[in-house]
Amino acid sequence: MSIEKLYKQFSDVHPNIVLKSEILRTGIDISKAAIDNFSRRDDLLWKGFHLFSYDWDKTKVYGDKIPWYGHLEDGCFFMIRTHNASPYLLDMEGNMFIIREKASDEVLAKNVWFERKPRFYDMKTPAGHQMGSIVQGQGRMLFVTMNKYCEMWKDGEQCLFCNINATMKDQKMGGEDVVAKIPAAEMADAIKIALEVDPHYSILYISSGTILKTYQGKTELEFYEERLNALKEKLQVMIPTTVQVAPYDDEGWKRIHALGIGSVQPNIEVWDKDLFKWICPGKNKYIGYDEWIKRTIRAVDFWGRGRVNPNFVIGVEMATPHGFKDIASAVKSTAGGWDFLMSNGVLPRYNLWTQEAGSAFEGQATPPIEYFIEIQKAYAELRWKHNFEPPYPATMFRNCYGLNCLQDFEYYHGNSSTSKKNLDKYLGVKPGEPGGHFDQEGYTL
Ligand code: SF4
Repeated sequence: MSIEKLYKQFSDVHPNIVLKSEILRTGIDISKAAIDNFSRRDDLLWKGFHLFSYDWDKTKVYGDKIPWYGHLEDGCFFMIRTHNASPYLLDMEGNMFIIREKASDEVLAKNVWFERKPRFYDMKTPAGHQMGSIVQGQGRMLFVTMNKYCEMWKDGEQCLFCNINATMKDQKMGGEDVVAKIPAAEMADAIKIALEVDPHYSILYISSGTILKTYQGKTELEFYEERLNALKEKLQVMIPTTVQVAPYDDEGWKRIHALGIGSVQPNIEVWDKDLFKWICPGKNKYIGYDEWIKRTIRAVDFWGRGRVNPNFVIGVEMATPHGFKDIASAVKSTAGGWDFLMSNGVLPRYNLWTQEAGSAFEGQATPPIEYFIEIQKAYAELRWKHNFEPPYPATMFRNCYGLNCLQDFEYYHGNSSTSKKNLDKYLGVKPGEPGGHFDQEGYTL
């Protein structure tokens, strides 16, 4: 279906949400003209170093020079997920970057712009590694993967949508300066240097693959503590930080809370219990669905309402052969789970599923756009019903998190202080003026 038809079909949703959902859902192809332009420059935040590739095709590594994040003209922030077979093309018209619909050749977006390269990216840490391999920039967020190897893969118990270990292998083969497990002192040094050299970054996101037993004599929890304590010591006071971590029992939550982090993300990934067992076999085996949910809700007693933000990979509940066959059942299941979690003080977040190369789900069909619009709309309505601001600091700003339209629903359709409606009023934007609010350096216009 052409994008114009989709805009009409979803006339109650801002067109940028429809377009962004489409290019996240199907990925984007990149024209030769755009690739030639990128190859001649070195000022952009290139893909690479991250824990997942988010590419349908071969993992793009740092040396490939493919931008990692783009913005539509008004600042709408999106992740670039490469896919040669996507119906959409990132292309050039003169010196301007555009998004084109391949079938009609129609230009869907003009004046697309990209995140600039962090000033620290090509520096070295005191231990001699490329800074970008230790700490990545994304919008206004720094991202660190303490451990790029997930032990769930050892016996084929990894989450079926995930390509963490395959991505690390591709990055090594592609010449990246890969550090699989970042030493505590190096992690603390790199984050402090990044904040000093490029104060444009204001929050910290920390993730890690699973350690099932011990690594160098340390359990997963001790591994986390060693690194986060080193960071706390180095910074003296933590910047807003969110950590993706398996759900712990009370003793574990107590120890993690003592590290001074702002929120935790014990990622549930998919709500339906049978689908969780199928899609997340390792999580189900080592902790189990009921215990995962119970501990996630219990974390609210430590961090407070809204500060526990488990991720959901929306779309995987329609994967074949065991997923929901119809959109209404898929939306009902996931939205029902979110309603339950929000009633218990947990504020989930989500990203749109990529059928990543190297994951067990590689080659699956992507669910229809109707599903992605309906489920994201349902999330926004539930969040408003339960009176939650967007997850903090997990998806803090509109230009922090480009894997979903969570902030875009707030910006274009919400009433909070960061909605377009309010920002236009404060900034004196007149009716009919675009009121983009972000220039290419990310400052409010
Ligand atoms: S726990 Fe699952 S999603 Fe997380 S890194 Fe391991 S396999 Fe991937």
